[in-house]
Amino acid sequence: MQVIFGPVHSRRFGKSLGVDLSPGRKQCNFDCLYCELDAAKTVDVYDEVVSVETIITALKASLKEHQDIDFITLTANGEPTLYPYLSELVDAINTFKGSIKTLILSNAANIDDAKVQEALLKIDEVKLSLDCATQKCLQKLDRSHAGIEVEHIKAGMLEFKAKYKGILVIEILIVKTLNDTADEIAKLNEYLLKLQPVRIDIGTIDRPPAYKVEPVSYERLLEISHLFDSSLPIYIVSRKKAEMTPSHYNEEQILQTLSQRPLTAEDIEALFDGESQKSFENLLIAEKIKKVTANGVEFYKKA
Ligand code: SF4
Repeated sequence: MQVIFGPVHSRRFGKSLGVDLSPGRKQCNFDCLYCELDAAKTVDVYDEVVSVETIITALKASLKEHQDIDFITLTANGEPTLYPYLSELVDAINTFKGSIKTLILSNAANIDDAKVQEALLKIDEVKLSLDCATQKCLQKLDRSHAGIEVEHIKAGMLEFKAKYKGILVIEILIVKTLNDTADEIAKLNEYLLKLQPVRIDIGTIDRPPAYKVEPVSYERLLEISHLFDSSLPIYIVSRKKAEMTPSHYNEEQILQTLSQRPLTAEDIEALFDGESQKSFENLLIAEKIKKVTANGVEFYKKA
């Protein structure tokens, strides 16, 4: 049973060690159609629980072996906030982590639970999923456990955000025909304008899903990103960028594109051909484009 995995290197998190709070099998209150794990019956409590002591011993041993870790990421084969001793575990990690940051990846299904909020408030960065703004979508796409209500999730996130001093990131996974409709996006947009997270990552399926569902193209993700208010810090996370053929944009088109939506260097590489990238550089030198940073991700926008 492997509780610690990694270290994994990423541009944004540097060197990160993962902690799997459900290493034995999938234990989740969702059974998302796009899940990378096998489909499984939903649960609302873990019946297989690893002790805090086991996790801390494994984590300390791993930190001894890898001394330049930037992040400790709490995750699970399933939903980490269902781990019954999450608050105690975070307290224990906080006693020895030093300057290492903590991060949790959660589906947010029980963010309205006071105990879950208490644990998450002690974590440096919290990434919550929000694929749907409506109950119908939540049940169809995330196949939520009985009793989970999207309105409770939304209210819980607002309550948590009002108290939280760390970095709150929202993740939306777009699945073709399920949550890519103009109506669903409009409702997500309306809610996210209230929530004001530090960043919103939108992506699509890029690994074999548990059920027969399809991803959307990178172009469609870009179109969807334009449906959100331009003040929202949307970051498109998609390996599909690499499959795109870059196109030619003149200076006016580049500025027009960047006024609709700030883009990352990766987006620019995927969208603009060589000549357009030179024009982009010239606009940057001429200060018609500026660089901004949202929680470690650099964006370019019209000045
Ligand atoms: S919340 Fe995560 S682990 Fe649970 S079913 Fe959805 S994708 Fe899988």
